[in-house]
Parts: sequence; C-alpha cells; structure tokens
Amino acid sequence: MSTLYDTERLKKADSASILHPATVVADVAEKGPRIIAEGKGCFITDTEGKSQLDAVGGLWCMNIGYGRPEIGDAMKKASDQLGYFHTFAGSSNPAQIQLAERLVAKMPDHINKVFFGSSGSDANDSLMKIVWYYNGLRGKPEKRKIISRRQAYHGTTIASASLTGLASFHRNFGLPIAEVKHTSLPHYYREAKPGESELDFSNRLARELEDLIIAEGPETVGAFIAEPIMGAGGVITPPEGYFSAVQKVLKKHDILFICDEVVCGFGRLGDWFGHRVYDIRPDMVATAKGITSGYFPLSAAFISDEIWNVLRDGSATLGAFAHGFTYSGHPVGCAAAMANLDILQNENLIGNAADVGAYLHTSLREALGDHAHIGEIRGHGLIGAIQLMADRDTKTGFDLKHKIAARCVAAIGELGVIYRPLPTADSLAFSPPLCLTRNEADQMVDALRKGLDQVIGGLNSEERK
Ligand code: PMP
Repeated sequence: MSTLYDTERLKKADSASILHPATVVADVAEKGPRIIAEGKGCFITDTEGKSQLDAVGGLWCMNIGYGRPEIGDAMKKASDQLGYFHTFAGSSNPAQIQLAERLVAKMPDHINKVFFGSSGSDANDSLMKIVWYYNGLRGKPEKRKIISRRQAYHGTTIASASLTGLASFHRNFGLPIAEVKHTSLPHYYREAKPGESELDFSNRLARELEDLIIAEGPETVGAFIAEPIMGAGGVITPPEGYFSAVQKVLKKHDILFICDEVVCGFGRLGDWFGHRVYDIRPDMVATAKGITSGYFPLSAAFISDEIWNVLRDGSATLGAFAHGFTYSGHPVGCAAAMANLDILQNENLIGNAADVGAYLHTSLREALGDHAHIGEIRGHGLIGAIQLMADRDTKTGFDLKHKIAARCVAAIGELGVIYRPLPTADSLAFSPPLCLTRNEADQMVDALRKGLDQVIGGLNSEERK
C-alpha cells in the first residue's frame, strides 16, 4: 500500500462524527467502520492493508474497475476549464452537450432527450415529477399514481424510497407516500404455483397488475416502474414473457413505463442496457451508477419524444419547467462520464461482461448447482445471486433471523472476496467490475464454495430448519 494510515485514530474520528448510511447506527458507533483506502482493477484495500476482490463493484456501480487515471485526468481537465456553471435558465456547457448526444444515441429511436442529476434516487424522483407534469399538461392531473413492485429498489429520497418495495425503507419513515402502489415481484422460483409454467406465471402477474390498475382506477395511474433485473431485492431476473405481458396492460390503460437502469445500465448485463436484453420499450429511463462507474455522482433520466413534445407545447401555458438541481449537467461529472464511456467502448468491457459473465454463471452452476442448500443460481452477464435454502426439495427457506446470508458473506470476505447479502431474498449477490478476468471469476467461485461450506457445515440443528 502506498500510504500508511493510523487506522485506530481514523476509526475513532469516524465514530465521533459520521452518521453512516444503511448501517446499524449503534454497531458502527461502537465497533468503528472498516476503512477502504485504495482500489485497483477488481480489488480494494483497507487501511490495514487487507485486499479483497470486490465482487459487488461497490454498490453495483464500479463498471470499469478501480484506479483508472483516465477518469481523474478528464475531470482535472474539465475542472481547470470550467469547474462549475449551472444549467438553469437556458445555460449549458460543452461537456453536457457532448455527453447528451452520446447517450441519446444509445437509447431507443423514440427517446432523444435527457435530464441530468446526481443520483439514481433523484433520477427516479425527476421522472415521477415529469409523469405528473406531463399528465397535468394533457388535462389528466389525477393520473398520478406510480405502480412499483414489492422488493424493488429505486432509491431512498421520499418519493424514490416510496417506489422502493422493501419494508425496511418504509418502516419508521411513514412511507410509502399515497401516490405509490406495489404489485407482485416476478420471482418465478419462489412465487410460482406448483406446476405453473413461466409464461403462465408472467401472465398471472400481468393480470394482477391489471386488477390493481382497475381497482385504483386507470384514470389515476400514471406510470409503472421496473428494473429490468431487480437488484437489491434479490437479483430477480424476469420470467419468460413477463415484460411483454406487462407492457400490453400498460398500453391498454395509457400508463407510462419507467425503466430503472441504474444497476443494469452501462454494460452490467453484457449489453448497453437491460431494456435491450428484455425487449422493453420504455417511455422513460433512469440511469446513474455505471454512467461514471461511481467516480463522480451523476444521473441521467431520459424521456420519449412524445413526453418531450407535451412538455415543449406546455411551455406556453406553464412557463419554466420548474425542476432541476444545482449540479444538473455538471461539467466535471459529464467529462468523467465521457472518459468512462471511452473505456467501456475501447476496451470492449461490455463484450467482456457477456463473455466472462457466461463463464462465471456456468462455473457457479458446475460448482454449486447440486448443493443441498442452494435453491437457485440466477442472473445475467455480470450480475447474479445465489439463493440459500434450508431444504431445496421442499423449497423451504432458512429462518431469516439466523442471518445466514450475512454470515456466509463474512466468511467469504475472510477468504478474500466481497459478496453482498440480500436479507429479504436470503441470497448472496454479486456484480463485479466488468473488467473481471476468468481467473478472477474462478477466485469468486472458489471462495464462495469454501465460505458456504464453512458456514452451512457449522449450522446447528435449530439453524438448519
Ligand atoms: N435504482 C436502482 C435500481 C438502484 O439499485 C439504486 C441504488 N442502489 C437506485 C435507484 C438509487 O440510486 P442512488 O443510491 O444513487 O440514489
């Protein structure tokens, strides 16, 4: 490691001064944090010199890999030229214009406009507000409800946390807000009825969605939001026919489709975007994370021509579109995104994600497909999850109170690889940098197998139930 750190002092200072996100407040205050100091390729190193393969890519965002000086170089150049200027009231800057051109070229033909922000949450908030604005302008101001799915993850601001379908993000905050409703999650393995085919399951879920729309009143429902593959809710891949069945229902009731590509976008699935993989025709698309591989906080929210035309025509009556952020179209962030896109493109990292992703999924199935406590290994490209099961024959899950996924992740971490526990789904997730090599994929599989054996082999009879 190039720098020496006084870890104990840093830990004390951290505990004395920081409220950590998504952390048990008392735990970190007492034990202190783990402090990550450096990263290179797929590996991160903490202040005590311990290195691990980060098989989660930070928070599903480190697409190009750690330690790429090209990003810093591009940001320095941009910052030296124009460290900041706002984009309100008709201002712009060359970096956001170049980035916008490049991004919309990667969207479907009917999507040609982008709005920049700083996070996945604000992208979803912005799109939700645009749904309201758009429907107001169309003379349908009551068409405001947004339907999301249980176990979805769309962010943590008041609106986006409402869209999120995980109880812990609602409990204690008085959420969700009244405009947000949730429908079933499309997890075929756990939610299908005995004997139900994937297609039948998808059609049943589409009917449930339509029942919900009708119960709420189609004239009150503005949009449906979905991740192509649900990330934090369990890395749930859509079953056969799911999105086409859902889209038929939405079209029938004049309801927009918001595709949340915050995790799936920019190569994670071995293609530029998840909507291309699953044949989704979105009206709006939210992106963040992989747009800069996390090197700078940036989001890009896209809208269709149809929505844009309504907004443009509405200017005459409404005046300014009164929404935006100080950092919308930040020139330094846009420069970081362009350098990131250059690396993704020039090094064919998306092709690598498809290739090494397929290799990884095959290796995982070979190594663990018959494991008595693994029910399903799912995912696509370089994202996936391992479903733990107390009894895979009867499809009985472990009691979540035993926190077996978290214990497995801790054991695998000791063996040098970071996975992520997804408590609601009792699964272990991975989404490594897209520069992952086959050799590193082998390390992921090896540590996973050993860590699972250690924890599951050591469970007592009560925990095995
Ligand atoms: N959408 C999805 C699918 C996400 O996974 C996340 C973050 N994990 C978000 C939105 C929110 O992004 P942010 O944390 O940048 O607000």
